[in-house]
Amino acid sequence: MRTAYLDHASTAPTRPEAVAAWTERAGLVGNPSSLHSAGRRARSAVEEAREEVAAALGARAGELVWTSGGTEADNLAVKGLWWARRAQDPRRRRVLVSAAEHHAVLDPAEHLREHEGADVRLLPVDAAGRTDLDALAAELAQAPEEVALVSVMWANNEVGTVQPVAEVAALARAAGVPVHTDAVQAVGHLPVDFAAAGVDALSLSAHKFGGPVGAGALLLRRGTPLVPLLHGGGQELGARSGTLSAPAAAATAAALRAALSGQDAERERVAGLRDRLLAGLAERVDGVRVRGSLTDRLPGNAHVTIDGCEGDSLLYLLDAAGVECSTGSACQAGVPQPSHVLLAMGVPAEQARGALRFSLGWSSTQEDVDAALAAVGPAVERARRAAAGSSRAGRRRPAAVAS
Ligand code: PLP
Repeated sequence: MRTAYLDHASTAPTRPEAVAAWTERAGLVGNPSSLHSAGRRARSAVEEAREEVAAALGARAGELVWTSGGTEADNLAVKGLWWARRAQDPRRRRVLVSAAEHHAVLDPAEHLREHEGADVRLLPVDAAGRTDLDALAAELAQAPEEVALVSVMWANNEVGTVQPVAEVAALARAAGVPVHTDAVQAVGHLPVDFAAAGVDALSLSAHKFGGPVGAGALLLRRGTPLVPLLHGGGQELGARSGTLSAPAAAATAAALRAALSGQDAERERVAGLRDRLLAGLAERVDGVRVRGSLTDRLPGNAHVTIDGCEGDSLLYLLDAAGVECSTGSACQAGVPQPSHVLLAMGVPAEQARGALRFSLGWSSTQEDVDAALAAVGPAVERARRAAAGSSRAGRRRPAAVAS
């Protein structure tokens, strides 16, 4: 059976260019911190990759800290900035984050609240998932000297909404507060310019644009105070200890190069497929609601809720039909929960349970879209029957009702 892989936002298929770069470097010995020839060759590979990735994203080589991926970069930014800003001035206890952030930002903030006395404020988002700039301005106006940092993502991983990052940065900078943006879903998919955006820290993750899993970076504006998470060998000028991976760096650079070559045309191609998918879903199935912004949206994101279904049931039914997608949010301890992003957007919990996210990218084709469209009608019918049956049997809460 042919499989349609429509889950690029979870992880993209590794690009052949990245596999080639990885394989070439992985066959060579050398710790980039070693002083002998093999070490220096590994160091050159890391530094060439650093130059290339930083330049492609509007940053200087000295502003890039390699990490193990997006989660580490987010943790380093949120905790590292908070610790450093608090050390400079103990009044800075406040952390402002959008309510639609990924858990890799929300949970470090929550950790700081629980264990270190941070005052975490969630910035509301509108019905499209866009951060409320007035709420941010009001928070910043209240007591700017008490704000340690602001963190607002570049683009949302569930509903695909692109955030007003430059406006967020302008507001925060005017108040003298550093801004972090989680650009994990944006890099390689949208034009991203670190300097032009005016942010102080930016997270990226290689496997979201066809690079290796377990590789990423934090871009950090020169002079931004940061306390490291990891202590040890003092690599990355002390910001992130740990032996650097030359294969990971080289493969990350190769993947980004491939993602950015012909980026405009590719973005249009992928957005065209996405729009066909969204239109086809609405045509074939009643009770489909597109979530997220219709205008400022990741090109590959097709997120919908489908009335009267459990997203999880749909996911398994579609998987059995050879279509791989996601509900968009992780379950907690094996129990599906309505997504915090959809709830923050004001989506009723019953509708939020019917969430389904198809995410397209470099490997996606017309055939993938056709396969999804062919499978979705029968899957929804079965999922609705299952939901209605279980509600009649009283084993579970009532199925969602279309409104
Ligand atoms: N931030 C966002 C917006 C994401 O979508 C993800 C991955 O799903 C992460 C952070 C975590 O990145 P990684 O898988 O590289 O740890």
